Amino acid sequence: MKIAFFDTKAYDRPAFDKYGQQYGITFKYFDTKLTLDTVELAQGYDGVCVFVNDTVCSKVIDRLEEMGVRVIALRCAGFNNVDMKHAFGKIHVLRVPAYSPYAVAEHAMALLLTSVRRIHKAYIRSRDFNFSLNGLTGFDLHGKTVGVIGTGRIGRVFIDICRGFGMKVIAYDKYPSSDDIEYVSLDTIFSDSDIISLHCPLTDDTYHVIDKEALDKCKRGVVIINTSRGALVDAEALLNAIKSRKVGAACLDVYEEESDLFFEDNSGHILDDDILARLISMPNVIVTSHQAFLTEEALENIAETTANNLNDFFEKGECPNELCFRFDKAEDCKTGKCF
Ligand code: NAD
Repeated sequence: MKIAFFDTKAYDRPAFDKYGQQYGITFKYFDTKLTLDTVELAQGYDGVCVFVNDTVCSKVIDRLEEMGVRVIALRCAGFNNVDMKHAFGKIHVLRVPAYSPYAVAEHAMALLLTSVRRIHKAYIRSRDFNFSLNGLTGFDLHGKTVGVIGTGRIGRVFIDICRGFGMKVIAYDKYPSSDDIEYVSLDTIFSDSDIISLHCPLTDDTYHVIDKEALDKCKRGVVIINTSRGALVDAEALLNAIKSRKVGAACLDVYEEESDLFFEDNSGHILDDDILARLISMPNVIVTSHQAFLTEEALENIAETTANNLNDFFEKGECPNELCFRFDKAEDCKTGKCF
């Protein structure tokens, strides 16, 4: 098995080398992302391995198919960057459905605590021996209402963490699945929550679920946390709501226009994206660059599951982690083979 591995980072390689060797897979590591301009690099490979900001549009899929590439192995859970409908009948798509829900849920809580206790401000001050407390007043999480959108693997862990803090949890999910969660309408999430955390996938349904209309319905001072996918939040509407003091704080691990920026060192460049630049300039906004997944445990699990998926696909002819666009929930496709 020869796999072209796109958007490689130094932290990817140790675990992928280990599991590649174990399963007899040769990974050829390319630094570049997969795009229409770089797709030719996949010539001669059996599959490609891609991450969240690689572009797997219809044209890339057509070219991969023409070159005889049989499989796209996503080393992530979300698959909004793959044109799944177009892939049907042409190329198989595998993913890592779960690697560490704790990594993402804990990062969401880390962002929330940092934000509401102003740790990001205090850290910079004390490094400069400025021990003043002015402007650092936070609020207790205990007793606050958190609205969780999406109660799957990550949402569930986040709910348990919030309960540990003594918070009241309400939730919205298109497919409610837990008896011990108080499910409410989206409107109630907006009107009743002090904090809203997004843990649903990006789909046509959830695109800009946090937009101007939603923000208008929220409590003044609401905290928005997004560790799922950038386009769940209309960034311009969020910025306007921060400027008007409607939103009290925003914790963003993802951003709708992140693909050309995140994961790279852009410190020597002029940032063209005015909305992101303005958001980052706000004292009550914390941005991390799609880092919520990045724990040792998650990296190990991602590599092991990806290698296992490729082994299942090439050796057994089917893989339980194959995606199929015909099913709203990936798990509902039980066949192990989309076509
Ligand atoms: P999951 O599939 O276990 O759970 C997703 C939940 O969202 C499910 O309960 C599903 O019913 C619900 N859902 C589906 N459509 C919905 C809708 N229209 N409205 C409300 N809820 C809906 O997924 P997960 O493992 O919990 O991951 C959640 C998301 O987190 C992923 O889709 C991915 O985008 C994101 N993620 C981000 C990172 C990161 O590093 N920032 C890492 C992993 C995953």
